[in-house]
Amino acid sequence: ICWSARGSWHRPRVQPYGPISLDPAAAVLHYGQEIFEGMKAYRHEDGSIWTFRPEKNAERMQRSARRMALPELPTEYFIDSLKEIIKADGAWVPSEPDTSLYIRPFMFAKESFLGVRPAEKVNYYVIASPAGPYFAGGGVVPISIWLSTTYSRAGKGGTGAAKTGGNYASSLVAQAEAYDNGCDQVLFLDSEENKYLEELGGMNIVLVYKDGTLVTPHSDSILEGITRDSILELAEDRGLKVERRRVTIDEWREGVASGDIVEAFACGTAAVVTPIALVKSADFEIGSADAPAGPLTLSLREELTDIQYGRREDVHGWMTRLDA
Ligand code: PMP
Repeated sequence: ICWSARGSWHRPRVQPYGPISLDPAAAVLHYGQEIFEGMKAYRHEDGSIWTFRPEKNAERMQRSARRMALPELPTEYFIDSLKEIIKADGAWVPSEPDTSLYIRPFMFAKESFLGVRPAEKVNYYVIASPAGPYFAGGGVVPISIWLSTTYSRAGKGGTGAAKTGGNYASSLVAQAEAYDNGCDQVLFLDSEENKYLEELGGMNIVLVYKDGTLVTPHSDSILEGITRDSILELAEDRGLKVERRRVTIDEWREGVASGDIVEAFACGTAAVVTPIALVKSADFEIGSADAPAGPLTLSLREELTDIQYGRREDVHGWMTRLDA
């Protein structure tokens, strides 16, 4: 769909997948004025196709739009665009276990000019691709993460809470450093004091305490994950305590050493819920690479995926049907 400052959203259409043509002076190529979302469509056993909490992705895209001086796409248009993609080719939603159709809605500034200002012509697209598990172990084998002490992903007043390419661009060298050190993901700390946990390159993080309390970093500069929000709600339903607060890397380190912190996991649309065995940094390690997956981590993962794949009753009303 196209948008211009003088009009509104117009020209919705479905077209074959292929290159987009852009003017070399298009604002997105120079100033990174773009936002996106990531979600999945799941095929249920009866063949029907569903997605998970799409209104949350629509709202987050609207928040990202406000931060990036882009127009807000109404929730109704957002959800319609997902349905159109499924209508065009629902056969792409795989039916094997642990597979889904990854859906990527995105919006960018296509107006061409060279000065620095918000663009007045914007395009919104949706693409999709069948997807299997994000990590080699299928999400049940624990991962190792690399603590970046050199690089920050986002700072105070910056764009960290928006799902915009610049945040990912700034994490690329740190992610490469993680791979070089034999880790699967990079862990970022806050940019001011370099001690509070933020998030991973593309996932949120949750620590589990011995008494069953789940602790997750509160920060204005991380992406508010929809998976994290949902997992914490499932935990609260089980009577577990949930804390969204600032948490330091030292608290994690000391908590594991004293036995107070018993599990840690990463969560996001791609990772679902993936156990973390080891945190590595230039100076120290937390945990060990051969630590087994935590039982609470695995059971929350199972509960969430059961809801997403229609194997368990959706008591929260989280699922939206896309093919009807
Ligand atoms: N943080 C970052 C940086 C991410 O890219 C993602 C994935 N979108 C998340 C957290 C998790 O968000 P969600 O659960 O909504 O996928």
